[in-house]
Amino acid sequence: MEQEPFRIIDLGCKGMNLKEIVDFYYMSFDKGSLPYICCEACGNKFYYPRSLCPKCHSKQLRLCTSTGKGVIFSYTRINRKEGQLIYAIIEMNEGFRMYSNVEGKNVDIGNEVQVYFSEARGRNYPFFRLLG
Ligand SMILES: [Zn+2]
Repeated sequence: MEQEPFRIIDLGCKGMNLKEIVDFYYMSFDKGSLPYICCEACGNKFYYPRSLCPKCHSKQLRLCTSTGKGVIFSYTRINRKEGQLIYAIIEMNEGFRMYSNVEGKNVDIGNEVQVYFSEARGRNYPFFRLLG
């Protein structure tokens, strides 16, 4: 799926509640875009939905959309009966980090990855695969 170009969505909300943020995330996943949150007060960027900045506790948050590209910061391999699973911390090009599964055989730290969306437990969620 083609990724939408980088854009910022300003909902004009000074103090969104967590449910509004989570709903926005699920709506974004359904459209194939990866959201994150920018703190207007301190510039912190983070992925996990929160109604307060974890760094400065400001409620002046802005919902943004990532390019969906990043690099593997760290990873672990989990061996299961169904096959190996790679669980990674991904440093996104915008500067925030998130955890996700990465698809690919020769995954290593520093590899470039791209988000894709897939259904799990009845909803769409972000996963990553190696770029190129
Ligand atoms: Zn902040």
